[in-house]
Amino acid sequence: MAQLDFASLPLAPALLANLDRLGYRHMTAIQAQSLPLILQRRDLIAQADTGSGKTLAFAIGIMHRLDPAEIGIQALVLCPTRELADQVTKELRRVARYADNIKVLTLCGGTPMAPQSASLAHGAHIVVGTPGRIQDHMSRKSIDLSNVRTLVLDEADRMAGMGFFDEIKGIVRACPDTRQTLLFSATYPDDMQKASAAFLNHPAELKVAAGLDATRVEQHFYAVAHEKRNAAVAQLLRHFQPESTLAFCNTRIHCRELAAELRAQGIAALAMHGELEQRERDELLVQFANRSCAVLVATDVAARGLDIRTVDAVINVDVAKDTEIHTHRIGRTGRGGHDAPVGLALTLCAPSERKWLKLIEAWQGGPVRWDDLATLAPAATAAPAAMQTLRILGGRKDKLRPGDLLGALTGVAGLNKDQVGRIDVFDETCYVALDPRAAARALASLTDTGIKGRRFRMSLLAPSIKAIITTSAR
Ligand code: ADP
Ligand code: MG
Repeated sequence: MAQLDFASLPLAPALLANLDRLGYRHMTAIQAQSLPLILQRRDLIAQADTGSGKTLAFAIGIMHRLDPAEIGIQALVLCPTRELADQVTKELRRVARYADNIKVLTLCGGTPMAPQSASLAHGAHIVVGTPGRIQDHMSRKSIDLSNVRTLVLDEADRMAGMGFFDEIKGIVRACPDTRQTLLFSATYPDDMQKASAAFLNHPAELKVAAGLDATRVEQHFYAVAHEKRNAAVAQLLRHFQPESTLAFCNTRIHCRELAAELRAQGIAALAMHGELEQRERDELLVQFANRSCAVLVATDVAARGLDIRTVDAVINVDVAKDTEIHTHRIGRTGRGGHDAPVGLALTLCAPSERKWLKLIEAWQGGPVRWDDLATLAPAATAAPAAMQTLRILGGRKDKLRPGDLLGALTGVAGLNKDQVGRIDVFDETCYVALDPRAAARALASLTDTGIKGRRFRMSLLAPSIKAIITTSAR
């Protein structure tokens, strides 16, 4: 895993120590691929999704070349908007803490020119700004770009889209020819390619597969004997205690077998495969989405098009034979905002599957991180399902609405609002997620008194032990 760590880069020890302090240890895919080139002073066109860690990539490139003792603007970062410029400035200041007195200045519109000019006169090492405002300073001769070593065009496609092209051209011309130019963009259409050719000197081009925010996923790989995979899955569930897990197997038969084995151990698991009827499929997805099924075991085909929001963990019971499938699988975890918890992607690898890992390593730009199943804490039980589903054989056709169900549950059944989770209403069936401790009481009470004055057949679904209680009312 050495190659994947920032520590593997030829960076100043103080800079590395500060990255470590900031919690930056493993590089994201775009960082692992771009930084070796950036540190070699190559010009670069890097395409990667939002949230993939582009800022840190160029921030490190800038610091690597920066001499804090030298006066004059050594790096210039152009951003499309003030908000982005502020974000980039913040990040640069954090990264710059490895040395004393690296000055980072933001120059954007919407604030008076004069104080900005005064700050410029005071001296800055790094300037971050919007093309329009930088150009204004150029025309007033309040900015000197003749010492720029690193020029960054961040979110270049957005800047082009906002019509900043002429300003950028003028700014680039004011920078020395010897500068390094780094262009970052989410997209890189042909016309932009033509237009930016003049700014870049034999650029290297990088593109990181879309759909995965590598900084939001913690990946672990475990070597395991082929026949021990199912036991290893249970072990991972007990150790990491994820509340919702998507487990991928290569075959339908294996999906069913694994789900059954997990259920036998009291883990609420269901198998999703191509042979299910629509109603079974709906029911299964409802239970997974409302958190009453903790583990959904699926084939890639069955999982395709699943509208499942973020899960806590993805387990690759078999290694995907294709990096695109791998990233698609693990992209199901760790999504969400920057403050969302990091998702877990756990991959089991049998000896015969080692060859597929090579592809994953090539894609992520470094070796995978191996962990040992033997070192996992032997917790007694896996996290139980957070909820239990009440199925009511009545739905839209019976004029049942979510409000009616919530009303009945919090009214006659006496539940608290927070003991009731997601409510799904279909034409002929409703599913209500309930706090497992209140579920039996809710079932008894609703069976007794009905909903909106009518009685419906209903039962509690329990993926771990099949339907445990069934009642019927005519
Ligand atoms: P982009 O510019 O590609 O849209 P950002 O540079 O804004 O993405 O980074 C997104 C988030 O990822 C930031 O919160 C940043 O702190 C975090 N981040 C970047 N690199 C790493 C890393 N190597 N390890 C952990 N978090 C990282
Ligand atoms: Mg960015």
